Order: sequence, then C-alpha cells, then structure tokens
Amino acid sequence: MPEEDYVWLPNSEILSFEELDAVVAAFCGAGVDRVRLTGGEPLVRKQLPRFVKLLALRPQIKDLALTTNGVLLADQAQALRDAGLHRITVSLDTLKPQRFFNLTRRAHHAQVLEGIAAAKFPKGVKLDTVVMRDTNDDELIPLLEYAGTQGAELRFIEYMDVGGATRWSRAQVVPRVEILRRLSDHFGVIEALASDSRAPAERFRLPDGRVFGIIASTTAPFCSTCDRSRVTADGTWFTCLYAEKGTDLKGPLRRGEPLLPLITEGWSRRADKGAEDRLAMQQRSALKTPGQLRADPHLEMHTRGG
Ligand code: SF4
Repeated sequence: MPEEDYVWLPNSEILSFEELDAVVAAFCGAGVDRVRLTGGEPLVRKQLPRFVKLLALRPQIKDLALTTNGVLLADQAQALRDAGLHRITVSLDTLKPQRFFNLTRRAHHAQVLEGIAAAKFPKGVKLDTVVMRDTNDDELIPLLEYAGTQGAELRFIEYMDVGGATRWSRAQVVPRVEILRRLSDHFGVIEALASDSRAPAERFRLPDGRVFGIIASTTAPFCSTCDRSRVTADGTWFTCLYAEKGTDLKGPLRRGEPLLPLITEGWSRRADKGAEDRLAMQQRSALKTPGQLRADPHLEMHTRGG
C-alpha cells in the first residue's frame, strides 16, 4: 500500500472510458498490440467491464490483460471474462492473513484468495509476489505450492525502489540468484526455459514440471528490451517506471488534436533506462520521500502502473 495520505485526482481530470479507448486506439495505430489495465487498483473503477468490452472490440489488441490486488475480483471475474479479458495477474505477497494486514493495512486476505479461486481466464492466471527479505521471503515454497493448487503461474518479483516504495532498502532485496538457490535446495534441479524477450519474467521449470517466473528488475534490469508505455488515469504518458516527467495526452485529446504524431515522436526520443541507472548508483535508498510523492502524485508507482 502507498502512504496513508496520498493525493486523489479530481474527477474532471480522469479520462472517461471513451477517452481512454481513444488513447489506446492511438497507441494501436503506433503498433501496440498488448494492453494491460493496472493501477493502483483497476477494479475500483466503476463499470470496468464496460471498458474491457470496448478494448476487446479492437482487433489490433492481441493480448488484453489486467493486474489486480484481487480484493474485488470474486465479484467481477465473470463480468470481466464475459467482456473479453484474456488473462489476469493477481498480486499476492503472502498466504498469512496477519502478514497481509501488516503489509496492506486491510483485512482482505480471504477476499483475495476467493478472487484467485474465481479467476478463470482464457490465457490463464498469474500470481505476482514481491519478495522482501525478513518480510515474506520465508514463503517462497508455500506460495509456489499454493499457485499450483490454483492452476496459476507464480512470478517472484525483486523488490524495486520505485516511487511509493518509501521504506525500500537494498538489504531487503532478495536477488534472483538467491531465490533460485533456495528453491533448488527444496525442489531439486531447476531448468531455465526460453523466455519471450519482450516479457519481463524469466521462466523456470521445477523437476515436477511446474513453471514459475522471476522478474529480476532490481539486480538484472531489462531496460534494453523494454517496450512498455504507461498511461495514467488522467492521461499522462510515461515511457519508464522511473521517469520524472510524463507527456500530457489529455489536453491534446480534449482539444481534438491527433495523438499519433505525439506518440511516435515521443517514442522516437525515448532513451529510458531507469532501473539500469539505479543499479549503477553506489548509494541507493528509497527513490522518493512521502513529501515528494504528495507534491507530485504522478511519481507514485500506483498512478502509473507497476
Ligand atoms: S526501468 Fe524503465 S526502461 Fe527499464 S524496464 Fe523499467 S520501465 Fe522499462
């Protein structure tokens, strides 16, 4: 969870579904064929399945995904499936209700598990676990076992120092190499699988055939192959999770100006490698303070999608 007192955007600043669809159409015109709805928490947006349906009508979109904290998923899974959502990722950092409460300040653990149980999508379900030393790194094996019972693929994510992670420290990062060592100590020899170079996760197979992923975004960043764009709810376009500034698309959109030239020009200028730059730093602590995040909510990872 972000800090308690974060800044909410006024409603007038939030793009309607039709406006967001127009933004997506412009990106599709530039060649985008994969779209993920994320957050923050996308399921708190009223009538989200209506937006999913709009996007599902776009033939250019080959992959339509959503990332959620799972709290509202049990109620919405069917509607999202019916609307045409291809696949879903649920964040799950712990199987322990008290630990979940400590991490999120919400007593919603049971709802998340209900949501995961209800999540059946054509291209499957993934569970994302941010691994934090001395917080949940004793649950690597139980989480993998649990994912297997749900028919889901688990991905371990190295703890990142993005905006919003105000308590991040290097000592809390459990590197990919250590995750693999701990898992192979328990399960035996782990096989590395060929990965899609556009996907952030490296995939591995356990001796019993189960597959899992690791996103080593902190110790082995993949900026050179990163092709992701992020658009916030108020229509600001970011080309990197770590970017200080984004490009306003809402203004041009509402003035009826074409977005495609802005996007192609912005993308051709792109030279982002935020995680690689952070890795090269000698002294490294949390990226932003709570005060800086309050002054500019766009710096929060939950506004631009992790
Ligand atoms: S840090 Fe930026 S450029 Fe690097 S992988 Fe993440 S979003 Fe892409």
